[in-house]
Amino acid sequence: MKTIQTVVEELPEQRAIFDENLLLMADAQNFVVSSCYDHEETNTFRMHHFNYPILRERFGLPSQLAVVANKYACSSVKGAIRRKAPRPNFSGRAVHYDSRSSTIDLVKKSASLLTKEGRLKVKLNVPLYFQKFSDWKVKESNLVKCRDNKLRLMIMIEKPAIKSNGSGKVIGVDRGITNLIATSDGWLYEGRDVFSVKKRYVGLRARLQAKGTRSAKRHLSRMRGREKRFMADVNHCISRTLIDSAGLNGALILENLKGIRTARHRHQQNWLFSNWAFYQLETFLKYKGEERGVAVEFVPARNTSKACSACGSIKKGQRQGSVFRCKTCNVVLHADLNAAKNILHKYQSSRAAVNQPIALQADGASHRL
Ligand SMILES: [Zn+2]
Repeated sequence: MKTIQTVVEELPEQRAIFDENLLLMADAQNFVVSSCYDHEETNTFRMHHFNYPILRERFGLPSQLAVVANKYACSSVKGAIRRKAPRPNFSGRAVHYDSRSSTIDLVKKSASLLTKEGRLKVKLNVPLYFQKFSDWKVKESNLVKCRDNKLRLMIMIEKPAIKSNGSGKVIGVDRGITNLIATSDGWLYEGRDVFSVKKRYVGLRARLQAKGTRSAKRHLSRMRGREKRFMADVNHCISRTLIDSAGLNGALILENLKGIRTARHRHQQNWLFSNWAFYQLETFLKYKGEERGVAVEFVPARNTSKACSACGSIKKGQRQGSVFRCKTCNVVLHADLNAAKNILHKYQSSRAAVNQPIALQADGASHRL
């Protein structure tokens, strides 16, 4: 996310409408603020129900502006209450626009902004430095009346996602405990260091909780923050390496751990690598993947640690700790690497099934295999 500053080049007759609209929106939002305090409610949807008809009738706002005024004022009240700040007051110097109340074209350097008098089309003066972002996606904006009396549109933009076409490197990724990460191309990220740091936190936490004094509680909450940051660092490091090794148009294949609770995963998801840490890693992979054109896909978790990645045989006792020894083809592999290869194979065979040509059945009906 980035914010770019543009100067609005409005016509004189448009300026009068914008000025009036700024004041009108301020009044409308101040009304919503009082309404929030009167109802002791900051939920946007519940407040919309009270405020919308009044914003439309008494303030004469177009539908989209009524929605924005309610939403924006509710969230500022919510923020003020959280910060224990005084009641927000809108002065009429700025008004918020979303994608439904405005259309902004950074390439054509123009914007169409909704006011009480309808949509006004204006030219934007985009500084040279910001022109390189013209292919970014516009999220929302604020129209601000600045000290120099110029109107500026502050536009929040987001880098567009790069979609992987799947023609690059595809890597199966196994998440575990002895090795936090094992990949089908042979990378192992050992959990040992993470394990010992985590263990230290767990020990300290237990001691502090037993103490139960006020200073122990304060210490505890500080430690929780540190522990979270530590795990986030680990996840940043892992996700960066994985995205780099897949590269543009590549794909990372993970097991879908949602809803499954096999003994293996229950064991892994205890205090060491919690659900939260797994979920965070997935989130990091997804957003970094969008920046770099790497797809993140999921396959069902069934049998990925039990099956042989060389011949597919599933027999009891083939996995002994970190060693996988196949009872059918005698292959010996690191157990986590074997699982990572199975994850990759699962994805490849599911893809092959989708891409299979439509075959002609004996009865003449076309049928997808
Ligand atoms: Zn085998």
